[in-house]
Amino acid sequence: MFDLPDTLLIVAALLNIVLGILLLKQKGKSILNVLYLLNIASIVWWIVAIVIYRNTYDIKLLEIATINLYIAPSVIASTFLIFSLYFPFKQFKNITRYSIYIFCMNMGLMFLIIHPGLIIANIHTSIGQEHVIEFGPIYFVYVIYICGFFGAGMYILLRRYLRTNEPTKRRQIASLLLGYFLATSLALVTNLLLPWFGYFDLNWLGQVFTVFMVLPVTYAIYKHKLFETKVILTELLVLILAIFLFTRMLLASNTTDFLIDLSLLIAATIVGFLLVRSVNKEIKTREEIEKLAKSLARANKRLQAMDKQKSEFVSIASHQLRSPLTAIRGYASMLLEGSFGKFSKKAQQPLEHIAESARMMALSIEDYLSVSRIESGNMKYEYSDFNLKELASSVADDLRTEATKVGLVLSFKSDIDSQGIVHADKGKTQQILHNLVNNALKYTPKGQITVFVHDDQRKQKIHVEVIDTGIGMSEETQHSIFAKFQRAKDASAVNVHGTGLGLYVAKKMAIEMGGDITCYSEGEGEGSHFILHLPLKN
Ligand code: ADP
Repeated sequence: MFDLPDTLLIVAALLNIVLGILLLKQKGKSILNVLYLLNIASIVWWIVAIVIYRNTYDIKLLEIATINLYIAPSVIASTFLIFSLYFPFKQFKNITRYSIYIFCMNMGLMFLIIHPGLIIANIHTSIGQEHVIEFGPIYFVYVIYICGFFGAGMYILLRRYLRTNEPTKRRQIASLLLGYFLATSLALVTNLLLPWFGYFDLNWLGQVFTVFMVLPVTYAIYKHKLFETKVILTELLVLILAIFLFTRMLLASNTTDFLIDLSLLIAATIVGFLLVRSVNKEIKTREEIEKLAKSLARANKRLQAMDKQKSEFVSIASHQLRSPLTAIRGYASMLLEGSFGKFSKKAQQPLEHIAESARMMALSIEDYLSVSRIESGNMKYEYSDFNLKELASSVADDLRTEATKVGLVLSFKSDIDSQGIVHADKGKTQQILHNLVNNALKYTPKGQITVFVHDDQRKQKIHVEVIDTGIGMSEETQHSIFAKFQRAKDASAVNVHGTGLGLYVAKKMAIEMGGDITCYSEGEGEGSHFILHLPLKN
């Protein structure tokens, strides 16, 4: 009967076979897979040879097993060396030629092994003990071959490891190298050197050590192709269950038992089939999701790059537009002031038009520049303490003439308990308030605009509310206008000058300063409230 070494050997063989199945199940059969499978097949061959060798006393069979016991490792060494030439990718130009040389050398060695008296001279058997092999005069050739081929394979892998920068590839090579190094160096002692000195008790241990080669690779496959392994495990489980029930059925002692076992077998097979199918489906879905996620990530990256390019473009273009515009605005205002002498009454209105359009354009350019600064992260904030009530009042004063010109009343009110001091960027806060009041001017055909400052000491907040009696906003518009390029549907009918960027920029700046901007309106035609909230300085 089998003893402990045999049991260990069978376990090692099974592990190798499982790995072989895992490899066979892998998608996209590459030359690497084929080579590795050959390597595993020769390991199993070696294990089978030692099991037969240890358990037979038939001289003919023993002779055949012994020959195989020495041929198999030579094939393991050769396939490993060829494998290392290809792993993780082809490293040499004349790889096919090298493979043929290796194959020929292996054939030569096989001839020496089979030829009696050269490598294997004789086998001595004694019951209850390991057989003893008497080696021929050129046994050393065999030892050199095995050590040389494994050594060369490992040297190639080591070199590849040192020259590869890719972390996954490095890890793969390292685990493979470690596994092979451990297994071969141990087997070298137990199966090559000790027997050379006449010690055969551990002649079977090298085969068990092959699990060290198998485990890292199995682990790698399991880690990278986890889902395929799940299917294989499910299939294996179903198969074992079916075999078990089938055997029970055959061994049934009466018809009732037989029928029970048969129905169990049928039920298990159906459930098993459904299980495997659902696992397969799950894997396919997951793979598809993974693929989609990857392409989405790629598209996202491209979009980000394009967005960045666009911001850069806007920034360059806006800078180019700024200087000629400054000249236009300067000369227009000088003309209006009469610096170049009197001009006809007829020319007054067009000139005012030029000045106003240039001002609007400058504002738009400022918005574009702000957006590109915000998006490239180049917006700088200079913080200081200032009185927000005073700033809001001065903004109202600045724009009052503008309002009166278009027949609007612009008033200022305040109701604060605190000093009204905030810690923020004064220039940016002024820009925000200008923007809000300017919008009120743009979107209020008639009526009045109120700038109202109030605070909430409990919450340590101060609010500047710009209230108008203008076109108002629908609920839908109120939700969208803070996004980039968003304008109300009818906005351009009231005011053609508009980019839909002002509120986006203003809100971003307010949030950056620890505050916010919100709005509300009772509806279209009902006027609007735009509120800048900032934290009070305590
Ligand atoms: P722009 O005014 O250049 O279009 P903004 O970002 O400043 O861009 O404003 C976005 C949109 O919000 C405007 O197009 C308009 O539809 C709406 N809006 C802004 N302020 C008001 C307001 N006071 N009353 C009504 N609608 C407004």
